[in-house]
Amino acid sequence: MSDCLFCGIVDGKIKANVVYQDDAVVAFKDIAPKAPVHILIIPRKHLVGVADVGEQDRALVGEIFNVAAKLAREQGIADSGFRIVVNSGADAGQSVFHLHYHLLGGRQMRWPPG
Ligand code: AMP
Repeated sequence: MSDCLFCGIVDGKIKANVVYQDDAVVAFKDIAPKAPVHILIIPRKHLVGVADVGEQDRALVGEIFNVAAKLAREQGIADSGFRIVVNSGADAGQSVFHLHYHLLGGRQMRWPPG
């Protein structure tokens, strides 16, 4: 989508601190980190949020979790623990309407989330 910030990062038109990319997925550091490790993992394909995911996206969602596990190991938070958050829709506080998974770690998390 031409006016989508994260599509701009996927296309390389907008700069980001990319830590991983493959044919299906791009991962980059969050510009305003909420934890010592805060990486966003996004599909190259423009999906607005979780409600936009369909049968055809099963492998893509699996790959996102595969990348999350790989990054958690690389970032040294696989054993200490980490959180994966997807804000989907206005009530969840989603601010960028291109599906993204927050990978957060390196500190004690609280529950429940706000
Ligand atoms: P959400 O509120 O779940 O939609 O999350 C959007 C996230 O994108 C926030 O954590 C922002 O800090 C992050 N963000 C916004 N713009 C950029 C950018 N240009 N590069 C990296 N992260 C960004």
